[in-house]
Amino acid sequence: MNAAVDVGVAAAVDADHLREARRHRLPVQPGGVHGALPEGVRHDVWHTLMSCAADADAPEVQAIAGVLATAFASHGTAHLPLVGLGAADTRRLMARWFPGADVALDLDWRALAEAHRHEPRSDEIEELVGLLTEAADAADLQAGIDQPGKHAGHGWRAETRWLAHALSQASLGNNHLWQDLHLPSRRELSSLMSRWFALLAARNDRDMKWKKFLYKQLCDRAGINACRAPSCSVCTDYAKCFGPEDAAAA
Ligand code: SF4
Repeated sequence: MNAAVDVGVAAAVDADHLREARRHRLPVQPGGVHGALPEGVRHDVWHTLMSCAADADAPEVQAIAGVLATAFASHGTAHLPLVGLGAADTRRLMARWFPGADVALDLDWRALAEAHRHEPRSDEIEELVGLLTEAADAADLQAGIDQPGKHAGHGWRAETRWLAHALSQASLGNNHLWQDLHLPSRRELSSLMSRWFALLAARNDRDMKWKKFLYKQLCDRAGINACRAPSCSVCTDYAKCFGPEDAAAA
């Protein structure tokens, strides 16, 4: 069997599965150990965001805080933090998940609406956003919960899109995805994927590393087979795709 389909077996989600996933709350990590706390300025911004968090235990809130902190620390607060997401969406996102943080970070929304930041890998982000949002739409359609395109500006649909942007941007990082999201551990990322991107999460039934998995989906969609082995079970790169994801962040 071709490796391209080895990890891409068609998955299915039904309405009950999807509704249950969306209700699911992840219990706080025993002992409160955090495996990828940001440092320096990034930590200062992250701390400000998390101090304002609407739900500090929600993996999506933690993940977005990590991405916003990285972006603001790297590019300053005079630029919008998420590539491809405009000022109006960013403002709604922050009001939804970090109310008051824009004031605490002294963001100037009028100036931000005019600011432009060049991201050389914006095409890659766009492709990943497409993968994630299309999968979320497909899950909704399959489960008969909603119609793609409805509620694009608010509610679950908008939040899924914001999250897709955050995950996609973090996927450009050099560490494991959960580390570049500054999540406490990989389990929060797996929970987030199951809750927000149930169809994709169901496809990762062999627990491939999340970043590898997302890029493999892009390759599969484009009909590219970058695998040198005929199947994962005989592949010398197996540990790179499926090994533990607990190495220290760079
Ligand atoms: S690189 Fe190897 S282990 Fe990874 S998906 Fe391809 S065949 Fe499977």
